[in-house]
Amino acid sequence: MTSAGLWDDEYDVVVVGSGAGAMTGAFAAASDGLRTLVLEKTPLLGGTSAYSGSAAWLPGSQVQERAGIGDSTESARTYLRALLGEDTARRREAFLTTAPEVVEFLERDPAIEFEWRAFPDYFDAPGRMDAGRSFVPLDLPADRLGDLLPLVRPSVDRDRAGQPHPEGPLTAGRALIGRLLLALTGTGNGFVRTGARMTGLVIEDGRVTGVEAETSQGPVRIRAARGVLMAAGGFEGNGPMRERNGVPGAAAWTMAPRGTNTGEPIEAAVAIGAATDLMDQAWWCPGVEQPDGAAAFTLGFRGGIMVDASGRRFANESLPYDRMGREMAAAADRVPAHLVFDSRFGGGLPAISLPGRPAEEHLASGTWVRAETVEELAELLGVPKETLTATVERFNGFAALGVDEDFHRGEDPYDLFFADRSHGGPNPCLVPLDRAPYYAARVVLSDLGTKGGLRTDEDGRVLDGQDAPIPGLYAAGNTSASFAGRHYPGPGVPIGSAMVFSYRAVRDMAAR
Ligand SMILES: Cc1cc2nc3c(=O)[nH]c(=O)nc-3n(C[C@H](O)[C@H](O)[C@H](O)COP(=O)(O)OP(=O)(O)OC[C@H]3O[C@@H](n4cnc5c(N)ncnc54)[C@H](O)[C@@H]3O)c2cc1C
Repeated sequence: MTSAGLWDDEYDVVVVGSGAGAMTGAFAAASDGLRTLVLEKTPLLGGTSAYSGSAAWLPGSQVQERAGIGDSTESARTYLRALLGEDTARRREAFLTTAPEVVEFLERDPAIEFEWRAFPDYFDAPGRMDAGRSFVPLDLPADRLGDLLPLVRPSVDRDRAGQPHPEGPLTAGRALIGRLLLALTGTGNGFVRTGARMTGLVIEDGRVTGVEAETSQGPVRIRAARGVLMAAGGFEGNGPMRERNGVPGAAAWTMAPRGTNTGEPIEAAVAIGAATDLMDQAWWCPGVEQPDGAAAFTLGFRGGIMVDASGRRFANESLPYDRMGREMAAAADRVPAHLVFDSRFGGGLPAISLPGRPAEEHLASGTWVRAETVEELAELLGVPKETLTATVERFNGFAALGVDEDFHRGEDPYDLFFADRSHGGPNPCLVPLDRAPYYAARVVLSDLGTKGGLRTDEDGRVLDGQDAPIPGLYAAGNTSASFAGRHYPGPGVPIGSAMVFSYRAVRDMAAR
């Protein structure tokens, strides 16, 4: 905390972070005529949002209407109510009623266009859309960004390898960030400053009036006359902070870009009295361990079985990734787990892995092992031979029968979405393991970001310990405690909710 002195720069709104929520909030503020600055700590815009599949779970909007899929705010309300109960009812309602407005607002700009993409909701609950209700931006031709292109963070495989964007249009998360950047800069009121790490909040008469930041030119103080919106990710990249708050997994295994989300904005708000919630929570996923010790977001298992240190299966491998992550976190002998698979997938992983590395690299580094028999595989893994053999035999029996009597794999529309129907068995999610050589890939508990953070109200206003809003301070995305609590209801909830609460935050600032 500090009292105000001279300002180095002045804006109406300062947005900390540059993911999909931050950029949506900044664009909304700038289009309301407010001079708006996006402050980003790294040299690149987009954070984890740029790595993402860009799915946005914004129910009942004109995009689902165009797709004719029969989605509605009411069915999404039924679904969320069934999953989340009444815990965050006010924020849930704000989310539901504002989602269509955000989409309408965004698509009014010529830079932004979305299309519905099939991807089932994650829970079997009333109001679920089996085909899914989330949508993605259209690919963005790179030349539309011109000089702005190098500012957008590349996809995870290129970024981790230190490579720039490939030839061709920007897709998925890069398209989303690129489109929002075009819209923001097109207002004439929106500015971005990279390489500026927010370190503290400035308070005047009990109101947040600006931020302090570290830049290559030294520390600066930037005024935010209407308010500060912090949409700067969680603290997934901060090992000690994870440990203090009991977040399972590890900073080395998170999917957030290196050096991004280490929680300074959360800590700065706590230092002035902000309350937090859900601090041990994350959006989890299984992560195939990489030769360099990092993890790769892994989903869409088309084959193989996941076993714990005793050589036993412990869950339906086809579960949505956050639910599988929670299963892994539930017992110490499940991290690392091993994905055991056979050669029918050409020696490749029977799943989507972001980023993916060639099998030979994994085998050379020891993150995968290969053997001619299941017994030999067990020996290489150090798991009991008899147990792993029995597990594989039992699973092969289920595959022949078409029924997973242990974990019901293949009974949910989500399981079937990624299924490989080419193997011809009675249940496309139960693919036998019977073609040597056999493989096992080491799987750790990864995450797409922490989702505990600052307590906020339905307008993204940060609350203090008495649940009173701290004037001038707002939070959204993974900087705030998620309205979805301990659930990941469907594809695109992290990004969709970050967009809605950022939008509501700046509308609240504009109205004051
Ligand atoms: C491969 C992959 C696919 C995914 N697909 C989807 C999907 O399709 N749909 C979906 O909803 N979610 C998806 N996710 C999850 C989702 O991308 C993230 O949970 C979400 O984007 C987080 O948004 P955010 O705005 O909170 O943080 P981010 O997008 O990570 O942005 C935070 C930004 O704030 C900056 N920052 C941090 N601290 C400071 C500071 N002190 N000062 C200034 N700047 C700071 C960071 O550098 C970063 O650029 C996916 C994740 C991955 C890895």
